[in-house]
Amino acid sequence: MQLHVLILGGTTEGRLLGERLAHDERHRVLLSYAGRTERIRPPPVPHRVGGFGGAEGLAAFLRQSGFDALIDATHPFAARISANAVVAARSAGIPLLRVARPKLEEARSGFRWVASMEEAARALGPLARRVFLTVGRLEVGAFGVAPHHDYLIRAVDDFDPGLPRARVLCARGPFRLEEEQALLVRERIELLVSKDAGSEATSAKLVAARALNVPVIMVRRPVLPAAHEVERLEDVLTWLAALYARKHGR
Ligand code: NAP
Repeated sequence: MQLHVLILGGTTEGRLLGERLAHDERHRVLLSYAGRTERIRPPPVPHRVGGFGGAEGLAAFLRQSGFDALIDATHPFAARISANAVVAARSAGIPLLRVARPKLEEARSGFRWVASMEEAARALGPLARRVFLTVGRLEVGAFGVAPHHDYLIRAVDDFDPGLPRARVLCARGPFRLEEEQALLVRERIELLVSKDAGSEATSAKLVAARALNVPVIMVRRPVLPAAHEVERLEDVLTWLAALYARKHGR
């Protein structure tokens, strides 16, 4: 009897978990995407796209399809789905595991930390600056309060940022340090805005900024409701193995 597992993804971790579990006959996995990016690279496990209709919708989906476990491998800034996962798993009576990326160390980072995108936009100051925005397409609207800056916005898909002095650079990580340094120099970037997403695939820009003395404004993570968390994919596999053993009365 297989362990039926729903993975909430849209991240490298979700994809890697799918790859690790694809040929493991103990598990039957469904990987779920919100559908924010236009081009989903088909994963090696069955997948679905689109919201569930809130925590209740997710709970109903878990119950109706008979899932044994829920893994929240979403992005640290995807706060709504992570909160829904906690409520839905409890309501469906199945265990939940959250894959949490390590956080940056605030005190030792040398960055200016802010609590929100709005605060980051205000922190850019009254003088026009050349700003590299790496906060995700959905967060760019917050910079409408500071339209006087020249923004270079990196995003997976092209979009209209709705800012008068903005350009979109379409790219998908990982990014190499040399490329990031060259980009900051070529674009004469004076400030970098980022969020503490904890992804190694995009951390080279922070090293590049430090090397070039480009100040970084860093947005803190949203606070999520408590859940059992692990950082490493190996720990997810161990957790699943224990559930599988329990399901088979071992
Ligand atoms: P969010 O604000 O937490 O979620 C908004 C709604 O989108 C949720 O309530 C849910 O709709 C739906 N949703 C989110 N993730 C889903 C998933 N994996 N499968 C099915 N439905 C999902 O999330 P977000 O910040 O918009 O992020 C959306 C997705 O993009 C997430 O999967 C996340 O992992 C990925 N992502 C986010 C960021 C970021 O910076 N926020 C960066 C990279 C990747 P219903 O309530 O209708 O179920």
